[in-house]
Amino acid sequence: MPLPYRIVIAGGGSAGWMAAAALVRQLRGTGTAITLVESEEIGTVGVGEATIPPIQAFNRLIGLDETEFVKATRGTFKLGIEFVNWWRQGHRYFHPFGRYGDDFGLVPFHQQWLAARAGGDDTPLAAYSLAHAAAASGRFAIPPAGGQSVFSTYGYAYHFDAGLYAAHLRKLAEGHGVTRLEGMIDHVARDPESGFVTALHLTDGRVVAGDLFLDCTGFRALLIGEVMQTPYLDWRHWLPCDRAVAVPCARVEPLTPFTRSTARDAGWQWRIPLQHRTGNGHVYCSGFMEDQAAEDALLAHLDGEPLGQPRRLRFVTGRREQAWRGNVVSIGLASGFLEPLESTSLHLIQSAVTKLIHLFPGRDFDPAVRDEYNRRMATEFERVRDFLILHYAQTERDDTPFWRHCAAIDQPDSLKHAIGLFRRTGRLFIRDEDIFHEPSWLAVLLGQGVVPLGRDHLADAVPAAERADILQAMRRVIARTADQMPPHGAVTDGPFGWQR
Ligand SMILES: Cc1cc2nc3c(=O)[nH]c(=O)nc-3n(C[C@H](O)[C@H](O)[C@H](O)COP(=O)(O)OP(=O)(O)OC[C@H]3O[C@@H](n4cnc5c(N)ncnc54)[C@H](O)[C@@H]3O)c2cc1C
Repeated sequence: MPLPYRIVIAGGGSAGWMAAAALVRQLRGTGTAITLVESEEIGTVGVGEATIPPIQAFNRLIGLDETEFVKATRGTFKLGIEFVNWWRQGHRYFHPFGRYGDDFGLVPFHQQWLAARAGGDDTPLAAYSLAHAAAASGRFAIPPAGGQSVFSTYGYAYHFDAGLYAAHLRKLAEGHGVTRLEGMIDHVARDPESGFVTALHLTDGRVVAGDLFLDCTGFRALLIGEVMQTPYLDWRHWLPCDRAVAVPCARVEPLTPFTRSTARDAGWQWRIPLQHRTGNGHVYCSGFMEDQAAEDALLAHLDGEPLGQPRRLRFVTGRREQAWRGNVVSIGLASGFLEPLESTSLHLIQSAVTKLIHLFPGRDFDPAVRDEYNRRMATEFERVRDFLILHYAQTERDDTPFWRHCAAIDQPDSLKHAIGLFRRTGRLFIRDEDIFHEPSWLAVLLGQGVVPLGRDHLADAVPAAERADILQAMRRVIARTADQMPPHGAVTDGPFGWQR
């Protein structure tokens, strides 16, 4: 079915503006009209400050200049996440962005590491990660483009002010022709036969008609939930946290190039350094902790003076049974929520928007296209869900009722398979559409104390002495390269500094 047609986006948080910025660029020349309706009175969630490396691809897709974007959002760089007290009290590990070492032919690097361990070498895997080495010494450099050197072995993402990101995208999207309407959606009109949404009716009487509607109304899920009555799959039996309290505090030095996630008595606390402040939040389970106690625990563990009043949020972990129903595609919190333990929400928005572009519907809205979109989004949510459960379910903590509850969680079969495979054989269960690849699973499996009993014996084809030499050379290059990088603060306050 031919374009052009009218796209209406309900909601202007990160989801609405990310969708608008990408669609207006990808659909240019088709004559498609894009209108976004948002209400300042309702506002946005406003948290969501940590990201993962694929956001670079999204920013390129929508034509963002990296320096301008980092400045505008008071951004910093992120090389991974440090997990504190997750496996055991006092234990910490790092989930780095990028590779560990270098594969020996078709045998994955970590199999060589396991072979070396079997021979008595107790060097931690982290010694082979440049992202980890740089993060541990507070250093960061943008890797040179297209490099084949050791610099190409790490990835990076950003921490930024989510409100400023949405504002930056709005400027970009409006500049390319997106029409923004300030107003409150009062009710929604549907075609009596097809059930398709035909128009949004605003409280001031304006009517916004369209062909394709994106529900980006956040937890309200006005179109996909209230109007289309799409059921929500509740995953709290796997991921029991259901509340958060957030507050920024004054920036402290040094500016760390990573997110920190510290397990607490009934949940965990995030720490996200920005140029102008540090973002903090405590995610917890209301069944095991009162709201006031959670807020007190957060305030007791800030690095600097709190800036403003703590903000309380409630959520239900899970996803819509169908992200796309009729002519409504839900994106962002309207389509589901997974706690920000691995900073995946903005990525799931990016992924939804790019999948929508790949599977862009004609006016006939062929159900096969919709089903394929829903299948891909469901798989993606489920794999992130499993990755998050891994952090909780593999804990050895038994010091609070919450952690005892987590240790007893009956894991999804897909996660049981991934853990069992790794524990028995040292092999990783990865699917093509996974957001997190081998190094990420490796970092968290090992970090949560899952130690392989077996390994790939093809690694034994390399003589032990030769392997030891190669491993030592890799460690040296990584340590030396990290040492040559500038301090993270010099990069963010230098060329990327918002006050420059
Ligand atoms: C505690 C917490 C921490 C998080 N941390 C991270 C993180 O570190 N990294 C990450 O990637 N993500 C994180 N997220 C998720 C991230 O904040 C959201 O995914 C992201 O902001 C997208 O939100 P949204 O645009 O879907 O919804 P919202 O920000 O809620 O926006 C909804 C929009 O809909 C509009 N709207 C609603 N109803 C109406 C109406 N009737 N009429 C008109 N307009 C309406 C609102 O005005 C608003 O513009 C976190 C979320 C929470 C809850």
